[in-house]
Amino acid sequence: MRTDEPRPVRLQDYRPPDWLVETVDLDVSLDRSATRVRATLKLKPNAKSAPAPLVLDGDGLNLTALRLDGTELAPERYVATPERLTIAQPPRREFRLEIETLIDPSANTQLMGLYRSGKTYCTQCEAEGFRRITYFPDRPDVMAVYTTRIEADRTEAPVLLANGNLASTGDVPGGSRHFAVWHDPFPKPSYLFALVGGTLGVVEDRFRTMSGREVTLRIFVEPGKEDRCGYAMDSLKRAMAWDERAFGREYDLDIFMIVAVSDFNMGAMENKGLNVFNDKYILASPATATDNDYAAIEAIVAHEYFHNWTGNRITCRDWFQLCLKEGLTVFRDQEFTSDERSRPVERIKDVRGLRAHQFVEDAGPLAHSVRPALYHEINNFYTATVYEKGAEVVRMLRVLLGGEKFRAGMDLYFERHDGEAATIEQFVQCFADAARIDLAQFMLWYAQAGTPEIVVTGTHDARSKTYRLDVAQTLPPTPGQPTKEPMLIPLLIGLVAPDGRDLPLQLADGALVERGLLTLTKPAASYVFTGIAQPPVPSLNRGFSAPVRLIANIGDKNLRFLAVHDSDPFNRWQAVHTIATRLLVDSTAAIRRGNAPLEDPDLIAALTAVLVDRDLEPAFVAQVIALPSESDIAREIGTNVDPDAVLGARQALRRTIAGSLSEALSEIYEGLATSVPYSPGAEAAGRRALRNACLDLLTASADAPAVARAMRQYETADNMTDRMAALQALSLCDVPERTLALDDFAKRYAGDPLIIDKWLSLQASIPEPATLDRVKSLTAHPAFSMANPNRVRALIGAFAMANQTQCNRPDGAGYDFIVDTVLALDPKNPQLAARLLAALKNWRVLEPARRALARTALRRVADTPSRSPDVSDIVQRALAES
Ligand SMILES: [Zn+2]
Repeated sequence: MRTDEPRPVRLQDYRPPDWLVETVDLDVSLDRSATRVRATLKLKPNAKSAPAPLVLDGDGLNLTALRLDGTELAPERYVATPERLTIAQPPRREFRLEIETLIDPSANTQLMGLYRSGKTYCTQCEAEGFRRITYFPDRPDVMAVYTTRIEADRTEAPVLLANGNLASTGDVPGGSRHFAVWHDPFPKPSYLFALVGGTLGVVEDRFRTMSGREVTLRIFVEPGKEDRCGYAMDSLKRAMAWDERAFGREYDLDIFMIVAVSDFNMGAMENKGLNVFNDKYILASPATATDNDYAAIEAIVAHEYFHNWTGNRITCRDWFQLCLKEGLTVFRDQEFTSDERSRPVERIKDVRGLRAHQFVEDAGPLAHSVRPALYHEINNFYTATVYEKGAEVVRMLRVLLGGEKFRAGMDLYFERHDGEAATIEQFVQCFADAARIDLAQFMLWYAQAGTPEIVVTGTHDARSKTYRLDVAQTLPPTPGQPTKEPMLIPLLIGLVAPDGRDLPLQLADGALVERGLLTLTKPAASYVFTGIAQPPVPSLNRGFSAPVRLIANIGDKNLRFLAVHDSDPFNRWQAVHTIATRLLVDSTAAIRRGNAPLEDPDLIAALTAVLVDRDLEPAFVAQVIALPSESDIAREIGTNVDPDAVLGARQALRRTIAGSLSEALSEIYEGLATSVPYSPGAEAAGRRALRNACLDLLTASADAPAVARAMRQYETADNMTDRMAALQALSLCDVPERTLALDDFAKRYAGDPLIIDKWLSLQASIPEPATLDRVKSLTAHPAFSMANPNRVRALIGAFAMANQTQCNRPDGAGYDFIVDTVLALDPKNPQLAARLLAALKNWRVLEPARRALARTALRRVADTPSRSPDVSDIVQRALAES
């Protein structure tokens, strides 16, 4: 492990590479503890740079041989350390460098580079893992053509895979070993390299591309789990067809492969032609996966596939441009889900996720711009800001340009930059050129951190029949950015007449506001609409056209009106959500003053109106009746947060709703019962989502009939979605049935780690003081392992991120436990340790007593001498006084 203090890397210091690599020939001889890697690089000096030494990156490498154009290189001509290979005076011409290294995959607990997941050899090279395999200019703007020969014991690793198309296979004479050679004709950066070796089951299918080419599709899994790959394969084929329809993008190799492994730091990785997945995002059957699991599999399979064009064919010039591939590809996968499922529901879910993760990040010490200008450890920048806000920025381009011009911009991007390592400037320029508009101010979305705040005041004048909107924008300071420039903000709006119709948006100068789009560019602006006889209700930021915090003088009565009448479904949901959030914030304050929680007839009325509207799709109604989360409420409160009061307010509201709407909720719950066999499709999933949202509210009372109803569903469910929903509802009730159900679940699914993960998470999320001890004792459960990232995330990650009251216990024991875990994990898997520590990032919003305890815990990490660069970076930023 590297324990040196991380060195800052700055965007402004970017220099093109001194040396380019044309081809990489890898010969990897797999062995559990001594894998030999022979890399032959065809190097040439970059014509654009001055003569320079050859400096190749390494990380913990052990050089065993070095040859230049076939001749052993004399020791005085180079310096090799585990971190670097330097040839001070290389020939100033093209030459071949042969590098032999010896690596130990079994000892690789970081899960970066070549490692073993169970008995399978696999790799993870993004962002800087390739340098743990061989010395290389390990930066994304060095793109080369790779040929990979893998050799292994035939019985240990009958399946040998790498990027590209299979060139040849055979036996190594005189022994038990065999080999496979893979050739990838598309130049790629080293982070997209992958190889896999092991005993794997396979599911095969085919796809015919739009130009008529046949592509073989293969998904590899642990033997015996082939029957759980059907949905992933189906998702892949739909994603391939969708990318042809929506973006004109066709797959390019003869084969596309996915390998599912159980030890993986992330969700999945888009290596060219050979995606490697966390098995959680491949394996599904009705009995083992919930509807949310199915939806995640569909989205992630699609996401990684879409990277083939946005990330692989066109890659990033440097890691500062990470959002170029991630923001854009998240936007693409969200669009895919919108088309495959429900556009309004997808939008609501995406915005909920954005607010829960990205808005929180923006408001705390780890805030950074979509394209950061400086990093210490790139692994810590795989964040909600780069991914989710990055996607919002692309979405705003489409709002500004409209669908047709946006597509023209994308086409131009593919045409202009295919085969290149590009920048955000080059990407945005394509839209500026395609639409002939100036996007200079728009670039601030990539440079300025923080969530813009927009204050809107509407005033109706009956005499002149006008309606005036005054709009002001501000952007709060963030670390390193004390002052900000005004942003270009696309705000989609409507004015809703008392009869529910949208009024024409005619400005005082006669101009019509096209598509309802106001484009803010200044700190403040006013818009006067004419011909408005009756006071309308403004519907603002429709479809969440810009990722902003909106503050508007719209009362609860008018929000109730929008909940029923707004033609924009997102804002119908938003209206109810705003009423509920306001109530919960006020109610939390009341509880802290020692008063009773508040009630609000407008909220009950708005919920009733949605519940009885049979034209609405069930998945949408489920979103409307799902209350703001504890972290939604805390974020809205902003400072001096007491998580216990927040939980108290939320639980009180759940009980009020259960009481006031029990009849309507029960009716829907019973009405949606079905005897039709389970299917994972969006419609059936939407009905289950609504039924289970009703169950959740109905169980809030925790009375005997409610508990019995949940228990009945738990016992009779024929699919994991319904069983899990019942268990979740029961988990919030302190009743004997909860223990019965949890014990039954553990017995029923013992031996299936992905399902046991759900059981671990659920118990870690129970908002009761006994939970911390329960979590600690579960770390000794035979199903738990600190070496497996999925287990750690399921148990300790859920405790740290999903259990606000217990993670933030008033005695500080929650912080101590998280910090102890981080320090224990850090020497083995620093990336995972840093992610877990980041859960404490928003400690400053807490009330003073908890804030002091959280600071003490963070200081304990800061005072530990042998921290990894990953953990150092997080703790230093978390504690920095901005
Ligand atoms: Zn991605």
